[in-house]
Amino acid sequence: MARTLTHKQLETAVHNAYDACKDLAGGQNAHYIPYLANVDAGLFGISLCTPDGHVISVGDTAYRLGIESVSKVHTAILVLRQLGAAGLLEKIGADATGLPFNSIFAILLENDRPSTPLVNAGAITACSLVEPKGNAEAKWQAIVQNMTDLLGSAPQLIDELYHSESATNFENRSITWLLKEYGRIYDDPEMALDLYTRQCSLGVTAEQLAISAATIADDGVNPVTKKRVFDAALAPKIVALMAAVGFYQNTGDWIYSTGLPAKTGVGGAVIGVMPGLFGRCAFAPPLDDAGNSVKAQAALKHIINGLGLNVFSNEAVELAK
Ligand code: GLU
Repeated sequence: MARTLTHKQLETAVHNAYDACKDLAGGQNAHYIPYLANVDAGLFGISLCTPDGHVISVGDTAYRLGIESVSKVHTAILVLRQLGAAGLLEKIGADATGLPFNSIFAILLENDRPSTPLVNAGAITACSLVEPKGNAEAKWQAIVQNMTDLLGSAPQLIDELYHSESATNFENRSITWLLKEYGRIYDDPEMALDLYTRQCSLGVTAEQLAISAATIADDGVNPVTKKRVFDAALAPKIVALMAAVGFYQNTGDWIYSTGLPAKTGVGGAVIGVMPGLFGRCAFAPPLDDAGNSVKAQAALKHIINGLGLNVFSNEAVELAK
């Protein structure tokens, strides 16, 4: 018989994690993007959303944070929708790099494909693949519409962040042109880089991100708007990508110790997906050396371990009606 998880248990787990982690010290804001370096390091919030649309939030979950690399999940979903699972595997790949998010070495090692849409190289290729090709504005609309459907409400570009990143993204420029050399950019390279930079600069709340994670947990149906955003068959593919590389070079340690497929961003957000049960987002700007939020990962680990859940476990768990 399946173990039943109540909404009350989830609410208690979220609040306990907030209390346990709120005074955790350590880490520093992303220092290489001037806008992020100056965000209030004391911000902290956790949101959880269930497939029946119940949202639990505590802390700074209405603060509009820079989505950064969490957006890679959303645009990977768009590419999956447009190209299908086999198309994404062929054009980008689904391999863990075991290396930092902006590694050029990873591209040199695996020059047949960028590895995965969840590191910078694969995410820039993903932006080059977005249809319709050759039209920056139409591609941007597709990226934003897809994200809006996943979040359940619109993201808003943070202009200052976009200009801050555009003026300092020399490493991503190198990545883009190296990929072009390897035949892995499928549209104008500068356009692909700009779309990537813009999507990273979108402002979203932790609550919106939790709803988007819950849309994955709910097999492609947004639990709040009830709109089907993507085909149910694609949900395990996106969860597999997150499990493989969501914490960059620390992914193995993370997934081993939590059993929670998750994806981080240098804005300080981490989303996590437990298929069928919930999607979550924790947010706090100070990061560890790999670029993963110190407090957010501690909070997610506290919740998942406290509830005794693990995506690799054979225990059947269901949400109380
Ligand atoms: N915009 C950031 C970059 O490309 C995103 C990195 C991240 O969040 O991991 O460097």
